[in-house]
Amino acid sequence: MFVEVALPLPVSRTFTYRLNDREAKPGTRVRVPFGPRRIVGWVVAATSDMAQPAEGGGSPAEIRAVDAVLEERPSIPPDLLELCRWIADYYVVPIGLVIRAALPLALSDPRRRAEPQKSRRMARIVRELPGLLARDELFRRAPRQRACYEAIEASGGSAAVQHLTERLGFSTAVVRGLVEKELVGIIDQREQRDPFSSVQVAPPPALRPTAAQQGAIEAIIAASRTDSIVQPFLLLGVTGSGKTLVYIEVLREIVTRQGRSAIVLVPEIALTPQTVARFRSHFGDVVAVLHSALSDGERFDAWRSLRDGERRIAIGARSAIFAPVRDLGAIIVDEEHESTYKQSESPRYHARDAALIRARAAGAVCVLGSATPALESWSNVEHGKFRLLQLPERVEGRPLPAVQVVDLRAPKDAAERSPAGRPILSQPLSEAIADRLRRGEQTILLLNRRGYATFVQCRACGAVWHCEACNVSLTYHRARRRLVCHYCFHEEPPPTHCDACGSGDLSFRGVGTEQVEREVGERFPSARVARMDVDTTSGKWAHHDILGRVERGEVDILLGTQMIAKGLDFPRVTLVGVVNADVAMNLPDFRATERTFQLLTQVAGRAGRGERPGIVFVQTALPEHYAIRFALQHDFRAFADREIAERAETRYPPHTRLANVVISGNDEAATQQAAAEAATWTRRAARDVAVELTGPAPCPIDKIRGRWRWHFLLRSDSPRALGSVCRALQLDYTLRPGRAELRLILDRDPVSLL
Ligand code: ADP
Ligand code: ZN
Ligand code: ZN
Repeated sequence: MFVEVALPLPVSRTFTYRLNDREAKPGTRVRVPFGPRRIVGWVVAATSDMAQPAEGGGSPAEIRAVDAVLEERPSIPPDLLELCRWIADYYVVPIGLVIRAALPLALSDPRRRAEPQKSRRMARIVRELPGLLARDELFRRAPRQRACYEAIEASGGSAAVQHLTERLGFSTAVVRGLVEKELVGIIDQREQRDPFSSVQVAPPPALRPTAAQQGAIEAIIAASRTDSIVQPFLLLGVTGSGKTLVYIEVLREIVTRQGRSAIVLVPEIALTPQTVARFRSHFGDVVAVLHSALSDGERFDAWRSLRDGERRIAIGARSAIFAPVRDLGAIIVDEEHESTYKQSESPRYHARDAALIRARAAGAVCVLGSATPALESWSNVEHGKFRLLQLPERVEGRPLPAVQVVDLRAPKDAAERSPAGRPILSQPLSEAIADRLRRGEQTILLLNRRGYATFVQCRACGAVWHCEACNVSLTYHRARRRLVCHYCFHEEPPPTHCDACGSGDLSFRGVGTEQVEREVGERFPSARVARMDVDTTSGKWAHHDILGRVERGEVDILLGTQMIAKGLDFPRVTLVGVVNADVAMNLPDFRATERTFQLLTQVAGRAGRGERPGIVFVQTALPEHYAIRFALQHDFRAFADREIAERAETRYPPHTRLANVVISGNDEAATQQAAAEAATWTRRAARDVAVELTGPAPCPIDKIRGRWRWHFLLRSDSPRALGSVCRALQLDYTLRPGRAELRLILDRDPVSLL
């Protein structure tokens, strides 16, 4: 018996090994010899004859044997293995590296078995024995049991079984004896390692689905009961239309009635505590929350409980798509338009696309939900690939908030101006905030830029302070009194005079969240303000704490970056202010307009979700821009039509498929040269297929962490043709070795070209 094993190595092939006596199905973890080393790999195929040895396989006699089969049952279910194969193939990444990225780190350790370990079992005293007499009586013929009992007592009433047996030398029979006498219970420490088990979850409110919700629920359930391949669903529901209830009813069918498993993807766990809490309140311990703040041990426990079917709903950010659940019945992708679903390091997969692939492989239903779907998804609806389900109204007949534009080009009152020359909070917005404070309602203020001032400029000569390692301006952080680079985290003290001309007349320009916080504090000294951005949320539970305070009404004004625009459902928020809507609009990226529309629509959707209606003020210098106009009208379809038409001219997705090839190196000329050579080679490789190459050109941010960056774009209407060129480039092309430490990165379906 021979097996093909994928190893976590940067080579695009698998290796053949002999299996002597045992059997190992695809998806099984094995330890194999590789050169002088022993490494962990995964069986991806099994063959019983060597008629056709795999690439690199020699004659059967030369083939080395698998050292150990590390698990009884394959940890990777077939649909997950198929997903890994697809990612390896589509994004051109060695499958061993894909599998390694898909699984908890602990499993790459050759000594670790994926089976339950003793160390996770705790012995806890369940019956106290206060008197010595009782002890003498009970343990008359079992002095070791008494010693063991007293050892547990001495360590506070509970101790790890492994500690008792390995450190203190008690046999397992002794521990078992205590359990049989019902003095000691064995509990699984796993439950203690789940940090969410301590988070209180209120019982779920009993909600009656609206007619629109019911229609969506029934359509999805009906599809889940058919045997044929199911079309993916796009659930287009305005903000506050109750998409979560649809997901919950779908899970009730799949998990509770059909007894299958499900995966729920959310953009970022830390930012969506309410969504997670809703799932937990309905499904309790069946849910495993795959939080980025989990320790390796906790992550491993969650993974194992899913693999063993103890938990059947996996909720997490993009990597939860790799949850090893059995009998997958549904995948839900909430806020499917979010760019966080794209992994920015290799393997550069898009979790939404991965969800579609895995659902198809498993015969599961796939539901993508959003108020502002990605244009790729919308285009799939228009081409009949996805089935559209709609929730066109908010629940309980609540209106969408009225949105008003404040034109930043015409500041009325000079006294209100920030150093940047524009008011931070316009008159109407300030009045609205004051009004909310009087009425005890809450306000959300969005500015998608952190720090105090986004750049420092010399008034005399115009010089701007840049990071030495990156071609970006440094941001002034006032509380820390530092200039900070947001790309490489370089820091330096703020300047007192200009290096170029010696002038001391410096201006700190471009408003960031820290400055908004100060402005709000000065204008509304009695208001309770919370700021939420990367700088205030470094702690493990920081998001949770801030959002908890808002939920309990301990915060009047929540301000922050796009973190506060996602999925939050606070009924007492009746005002949303967008301090500057144009921040993302001018980024040199083809998705800048789409991002702006999404962000505005999403943040506006935080207002008026309770009984009291909401209002939104959008401060902008581009009031006529269609992204802003359609966001004011909550009109996704009109925006999509217009933006899709715009992209037809520039030939960007969804009209075509893209791959971005970035070449970087620590020498400017060598990088440019290498990009030119790679582009020439690729152009030749693409000659006979319908793939077009644009560039090379410097990346919009042409230097990061001391590395120069050039790129070129591959475009094609045919994913297959594009794939063949990507494969050729990745597998057959090598950068000419030089001293510039050149690197080539291939990003298929990029979400950002910066
Ligand atoms: P979305 O994700 O579509 O923005 P949510 O799922 O957060 O909306 O739901 C918005 C609010 O409406 C939540 O507070 C939710 O509890 C409530 N809700 C959802 N469905 C119903 C319903 N059928 N009846 C009453 N309230 C509902
Ligand atoms: Zn100067
Ligand atoms: Zn930098």
